Amino acid sequence: MKTKVLLIGIDGLNLSTALGSGRSPALAALKQAGHFATMSMAVPTLSGPGWSTILTGSTHAEHAVTDNLFSGHNLLYRHDLLSRAFYQDQSTTTFAAAGWPPLVDPSGVGPVIHERREQQRAGQHRVISRDGETYGYQRVDAEIADATAYAVTQAGPDVSFVYFCDTDDAAHLDGAVGQQYLDAIGRTDAHVARLRAAVAHRVESLAEKWLLILTTDHGHKDGGGHGGDSPQERASFVIATGLGRANPDWTERLTPESLVPLLLAELRDR
Ligand SMILES: [Zn+2]
Repeated sequence: MKTKVLLIGIDGLNLSTALGSGRSPALAALKQAGHFATMSMAVPTLSGPGWSTILTGSTHAEHAVTDNLFSGHNLLYRHDLLSRAFYQDQSTTTFAAAGWPPLVDPSGVGPVIHERREQQRAGQHRVISRDGETYGYQRVDAEIADATAYAVTQAGPDVSFVYFCDTDDAAHLDGAVGQQYLDAIGRTDAHVARLRAAVAHRVESLAEKWLLILTTDHGHKDGGGHGGDSPQERASFVIATGLGRANPDWTERLTPESLVPLLLAELRDR
């Protein structure tokens, strides 16, 4: 049986803050059980270029996303993880859910995750798009978690990407050492716990193999904010936890553009 992948992106997460706060038991448990790798993001440490690199396996020069406006981007030629998994094996079902429109909304400036309308019609690709910029990420992330838990439980897509931005939003408003950031970490951790439980249930009842991946696109300075080249802003990580299978045999230091090819290789393995 092939491995199924659930990639969880948490925007602007200072992992050390989360783990030190005691507010992220699910993250801590997944790190404890899984493979842990550090990752250093390229400058500028912004969401647009960061997620474009993580999700397409391309460097900033290759995808040409330089900021969050995406003008002049090259994403039509830099296929995302879900698309590449499908083109690698056309029986693959894929799912994406995000509240930041550039990642998934075809009417926006991206999207980084390609629309693939034919596969949507065929029931092989599903995209849940919400607008956290307008409606707030605390609320929108909860909707994204609901939709993803439902999709994992009911359909069990082969490759999924789910994205949360409550943490980044809180850090921009209140800094990365304040109560609001810790509260956002707690809420996000609860979403992760719920998704992990949905995956674990499938593993137990259907004997499936899953790989649950956690990562972030950049950290935050203590006062909130990112984009620069300080170690705290560039700090990212990959937690890759096998459920119903072994953890992946990856190095302890990964480049952001290496995640897509590594995941595609795990999908090819039987
Ligand atoms: Zn970001």
